Amino acid sequence: MGWDFSTEPEFQEKLDWVEQFCREEVEPLDMIFPYAVRSKDPKIKALVKPLQDQVKAQGLWALFLDEELGGPGLGQLKLGLLNEIIGRYGSAPQIFGAAAPDTGNMEMLAAYGTEEQKERWLKPMINQELWSAYSMTEPQGGSDPRLFKTHAIRVGDDWVINGEKWFTSAGRAADIIFVMCTNGMFVVPRRTPGVEIMPEPRSHNHIKYNDVRIPGDHLLGPEDGARVLAQRRLGGGRIHHAMRTISQCNLAFDMMCERALSRESHGKIISEHQMVQEKIADSYAAIRMLRLFVLETAWKIDNTSTQEARTDIAAVKYSMAKVLREVSFNALHIMGSLGTTNLTPLQAMYAGAPTMGIADGVDEVHKATVARNVLTHYEAHEGFWPTEYIPAKREKAREKFEPLFKADEDLRKIADGYAKYIKSRT
Ligand SMILES: Cc1cc2nc3c(=O)[nH]c(=O)nc-3n(C[C@H](O)[C@H](O)[C@H](O)COP(=O)(O)OP(=O)(O)OC[C@H]3O[C@@H](n4cnc5c(N)ncnc54)[C@H](O)[C@@H]3O)c2cc1C
Repeated sequence: MGWDFSTEPEFQEKLDWVEQFCREEVEPLDMIFPYAVRSKDPKIKALVKPLQDQVKAQGLWALFLDEELGGPGLGQLKLGLLNEIIGRYGSAPQIFGAAAPDTGNMEMLAAYGTEEQKERWLKPMINQELWSAYSMTEPQGGSDPRLFKTHAIRVGDDWVINGEKWFTSAGRAADIIFVMCTNGMFVVPRRTPGVEIMPEPRSHNHIKYNDVRIPGDHLLGPEDGARVLAQRRLGGGRIHHAMRTISQCNLAFDMMCERALSRESHGKIISEHQMVQEKIADSYAAIRMLRLFVLETAWKIDNTSTQEARTDIAAVKYSMAKVLREVSFNALHIMGSLGTTNLTPLQAMYAGAPTMGIADGVDEVHKATVARNVLTHYEAHEGFWPTEYIPAKREKAREKFEPLFKADEDLRKIADGYAKYIKSRT
């Protein structure tokens, strides 16, 4: 019998180690030196490296990658349980060698790169000697890839890219950028002549690619394969976001409960007011439902594939955005005025919550995908009545019982009595 929701003791020990390590080592570093992992200052590096060495010693470096690619090969379910912890701490994903957007790019390289490409880019990315970004969205519209125009043409042995991209996260700081063109996915070193990073936005960059010439071997995967590669990249990324979102929701929930027990109003501790209880109860159930859905989807990926689990990945994506919006709002509200300041994580969490419904594809597009996929398992009914139309079902059932009625007229009379009673109630 399957359906075991317990965690094996050896892995629980790892989870306990991660929890303690994040609380005692990662969070204090983050409070004083935010973004320390990307710092080039040797003094800051000296603080980061020992922590990363501890992660490596635990066999948890580059959590999301298979063993042969330099990761622990945990699979998605275990990764989900780990992400539930590390998602609570801003810099933890980077301390564990598992930060977006590099993770998705590494997965794409691992799946589609040639041995030479993996040697050149993947290895240094795993070791955080090379940082990357992902350029897909364009200024004229992000939700519909058919509107994308950025294109590469062959010139001798090289490719020349022209186009314009929007909201490339960390593009300005990346060493290489994965650029989705209408005819393929290309790896573009940021310092290549013609890569023009616009002044705004600061963190998610608007980039113009003006006659950017790159060698022929910078095409990743097959020519015209960009959409397949993008799906592969984003599928994994979405479930990882969802795993980390659970920990954000848990953080908000913990804060909500602690505060509800700590404040008094109108003669009661506020946790005794029913409307406060409702927020706690609704948030609790929403987080539990989301967690089960995320972990089941992770399990499905492990047991089938990202492609097979794509409907659930899409459903998880918009569900987590909704749960984060609701739970962070409830927590902020129960925190009262303090919740509206930047003195707790709640204000930033709530302000950032709508982002989860946009990044990696807007809710509407995922909902349309889910509805479309789900509907392929259904057919329209014939005639006027749906399959569950009760009078038609009764008629059919009556036909099934007819041989019994023929053999026993008393049974028919009893059935007629039931029929009369049912009719009197409709
Ligand atoms: C924090 C963050 C980080 C990001 N990082 C990256 C990155 O690294 N690289 C990258 O390439 N992109 C990145 N993006 C961009 C992201 O992929 C796009 O924002 C997303 O695909 C939506 O595109 P858009 O912003 O152009 O919105 P639009 O496509 O203009 O959509 C706007 C609104 O129109 C409506 N809409 C659109 N399509 C439909 C539809 N089919 N049905 C119903 N309603 C619809 C929805 O209400 C939607 O919210 C990031 C975005 C965010 C917020």
